This record gives sequence, structure tokens and C-alpha cells, in this order.
Amino acid sequence: MKFAVVDPQNGARLVTGLAERVGTREASASVRFVGTDGQFGQAAALELGDDTGHRGVLAVALAAVQEWAREHAVELVATGHRVVHGGEAFSASVVLDEEAMDAVRECIPLAPLHNPANIAGVEAARAVLPDVPHVAVFDTAFHQTMPAQAYRYAVPAEWARDYGVRRYGFHGTSHRYVSARAARELGRYGDPGLRLVTAHLGNGCSLAAVKGGRSLDTSMGLTPLEGLVMGTRSGDLDPGVLGYIHDRTGADISAITADLNKRSGLLGLSGISNDMRTLDEAAEAGDERAQLAIEVFTYRLAKYIAALMVPLQGLDALVFTGGIGENSTTVRSATLGHLRYLGLEVDPAANQRCIRGEGGIITRDPDSTRAPVAIVVPTDEELVIARDAAALTR
Ligand code: AMP
Repeated sequence: MKFAVVDPQNGARLVTGLAERVGTREASASVRFVGTDGQFGQAAALELGDDTGHRGVLAVALAAVQEWAREHAVELVATGHRVVHGGEAFSASVVLDEEAMDAVRECIPLAPLHNPANIAGVEAARAVLPDVPHVAVFDTAFHQTMPAQAYRYAVPAEWARDYGVRRYGFHGTSHRYVSARAARELGRYGDPGLRLVTAHLGNGCSLAAVKGGRSLDTSMGLTPLEGLVMGTRSGDLDPGVLGYIHDRTGADISAITADLNKRSGLLGLSGISNDMRTLDEAAEAGDERAQLAIEVFTYRLAKYIAALMVPLQGLDALVFTGGIGENSTTVRSATLGHLRYLGLEVDPAANQRCIRGEGGIITRDPDSTRAPVAIVVPTDEELVIARDAAALTR
């Protein structure tokens, strides 16, 4: 669980905090505050009470934040919460009144692990900060503009009608932020014809086809398991694999699904790690399993980028973001290598320069003005959450 105090005007972080192993007896939480010199101090461990669930941890963390705010005469005007699944009920961020909370609860079956934790967080935050509005910012909301041809699955009609089986997409906050930032960087903000593929490549990975600021398609579906190869998630596979592995091993659906979420992806392919940094180093040192994992990852990625040319009918820019997209020069150059026929050619010096928060164009100057570019844009989901919360509060 991550939290921060953000100045929505300038995006400055005043407090940042992190809680790990929430819900276990080893739960821990720490917080860092900006000092009068504008620099962050050392992380200080928070003393947790008996309740080490989301509610208890957040109550302790927010009490520390509130005390800091009082001492420094900082006014906390709103709280923004990342909520994973908004189903079809939410196409934008919303102030969480009782009606909205009920609608978030109704989305629990769509995200049984995430939405209850999100709701517990909101309830804990409301208990500590009852006088400020609490705003939900949904991972799915940005993709609610997808047309039916992109979001419907070819499954029995009643699955869609009765159980909401359709594609929703995730990482919407990130896709929204980097697509807007890229449009500005390219001098085309507000241009309804701007065609972007945004690649959010972190522990979870997804693509979006964004035209004129609207999501037309994305690689994730009902759950964040569909699409690209990820750290520990398989991404696309033949749904027949589930029945086959069940028949061969006797494992039930929940065990197989857990394997597809937690033991697959880069980890499953390499047998070494889900961490791209580790794999980059191992591949460089000649480890063939790491090389294969990166090959499968970048091939699938390039194939999916090309598929998103259909909703966009072309491409103006490919946007890389997320821990891998912002830092892995090897993933970016291998992916662009597959896409040379589109006119994308990596500029090795620019590619090396754009790491650790440095953004910019990483392809060579196109010889035709119609050729697309690839651009690195560091994402900032916290800032979007803070700005939405502030905007809905005014
Ligand atoms: P995120 O979920 O956005 O924090 O991204 C996590 C992923 O980014 C992990 O696979 C990290 O290994 C990867 N990552 C972070 N820094 C680097 C780096 N310098 N080189 C390669 N991958 C990196």
C-alpha cells in the first residue's frame, strides 16, 4: 500500500509512505516527510497496532500524516483513492458518497482481491478524515470509451448480460496521464486525430490505443491477466490450457488461475525472476532462459502494438512508461526492432539517455514527417489521483 501527500498545483510530494505485507503479522509501514529545506528526511517506521489489515495500517499512517499536516499548517483538502475495478458503473473519477460506495461494492465480484481492500482503505481514511471529500479514481474508467467491437468477448450472451463478462481494461490512470503528456510533448494536445499506442510496462503490463485522448482498445480484459506477458502473469493463452492442465494434473480452477497470475510470465519463462532488471543482467551474461523470456516478452509486445494499428488506422507515436518502459533500454530496442517496418528506428544514444525519470523521443529523426516516433514518458498515477480529487472537491 502506497500513500502520499501531493500538492495538486505543482505535483510536489510532501509526504510519501509505504506499507508492506499488509494483512499479515509481519506487516510494516514507514513514512517520509519533506523538511523545511524541501528535502525528504529518512524513512521512519510507524508503530502498528493489533490490526495489521488495510484498515488498521491506514488508520495509523493517516494519523501520522494528519499530525504532520497540523504541525506544518498544510491543509488536507481531499483524499484520492485508487480503486481497481469500476465495472460499467464508472467512466470517470467520482466523489464517494453512499451511492457511489454501493456501486463500488457491486463491482467486488469483478475484482474480489482488490476492491475489498480498496473499500477498506476508503472506510479507514473516512474514519480519520471525516471532513474532507474522498474521491475514487478507477483503473478501468479511462477504457469505458471502448466500442463494443473491442470490449465484447465472443462468449454466450448470458455471460455478458448476467455476469458482466466483457473487456474492461486496467492501468487507465497511467494510460490517461502518459497519453496527455505525450500529446503535449509532441505539440498536439487537443488534436482529435492524434493516434497513440501507450505501453504501460511494469510488474503488470498493458497497452492502450488512444485516439484524440480516448481509449479505443486495450490489451487487458475482464481481469488484469489478459494480453501481454507480465512479471508473473501469463497474458494471452489458449483458454483450453485450463481444462488440459486440470485433466493432466487434477489441479482445480483456482489453483490453475493462481499459477497463471503468480508463477507465469517472465518468472515462468525464465525460471529465474519476475524482475526485468535481473533478467536484463542475466541475458547480458549469456543466460539463455533470461534471453528467451525477454524475446517472448518483446515479441508479444510488438505483435500487440501492431494489432492496435487497426482501431487507430495508423500510428503517430508509441509511448513507453512503467518501470520497464521507463528504464529497460534492451526491451525498448528489441521491441522497436520488431517494428522497423512501421518506420520506427531506435536512436541508441537517446534510448540510453531516457532512463530513471528522463523522458524523450528515442527514435531517429524520421525522414518522412508522417513516420511515427517512440517516446518515453514517466508515468505519475499519484498526481492524476491527487488532481482528480482536488478538481472534484472544488
Ligand atoms: P513498476 O511496476 O512500474 O514499478 O515496474 C517494475 C518493473 O520495472 C520490474 O520488472 C523492474 O525490474 C523493472 N525495472 C525497474 N528499473 C529497471 C531497470 N533499470 N532496468 C530494467 N528494468 C527495470
